Amino acid sequence: MNSQARKIVIAIDGPSGSGKSSTSRGTATRLGMRYLDTGAMFRAMTWWMLESGIDVHDGEAVATAAGRPSIVSGTDPQAPTITVDGTDVAVAIRGEAVTGAVSPVSAVPAVRTRLLELQREVIGAGDIVVEGRDIGSVVWPQAEVKVYLTADPAARAARRALEEGGSDVAATQQSLLARDRIDSGRATAPLTMPDGAHHIDTTDFTLDEVIDQVVALSEAVKDRA
Ligand code: C5P
Repeated sequence: MNSQARKIVIAIDGPSGSGKSSTSRGTATRLGMRYLDTGAMFRAMTWWMLESGIDVHDGEAVATAAGRPSIVSGTDPQAPTITVDGTDVAVAIRGEAVTGAVSPVSAVPAVRTRLLELQREVIGAGDIVVEGRDIGSVVWPQAEVKVYLTADPAARAARRALEEGGSDVAATQQSLLARDRIDSGRATAPLTMPDGAHHIDTTDFTLDEVIDQVVALSEAVKDRA
């Protein structure tokens, strides 16, 4: 069978700052595949809740409103987009307000059910790299390639602080670890290493070295088709 013919899904899970976004976008670009950032969808939902004046710590209020915003993700790995009711929120969802509120919103089951549906719609056409916390475990457990990325907390905080234009590394590390605790401890679809995942600790690798490893795993799957 021609290696171009098989459509695959590559699931990349892991905590914040483990290198998921850069690795996922780089892999998708190299393989000519689409890319979906599910974290951006949870952030977009959180942005809308804040804009709408909903108390993000009131699980019932969040659950009741979760069906209302229309969230659309563009899947070009070189220019991913995200809109809420037609408004471009790509920049707004990276702000402190959303980062501070996203984990409690993401722990609400009705939010996860709503976004799971949207995620599966996009993933269904195949040939896509999907990054998140529960992709290989819950969203798409049948993914042909599953990768679980980690890195030392200090390395993760340093990378994230750099991305954020030089924020304080110690404060960034605290905020990352606080989000990890909520994301790993929630009852529905917690952050976990999925069955069958390849674990890559990215602390001592360059981005290109990590992408090389994921591309090699994916090509091996395509070759087996
Ligand atoms: O990946 P990113 O840091 O942008 O994700 C933001 C938040 O969205 C995470 O801290 C987590 O609470 C939530 N999330 C999730 N499940 C996913 C992706 C992200 O719960 N698949």
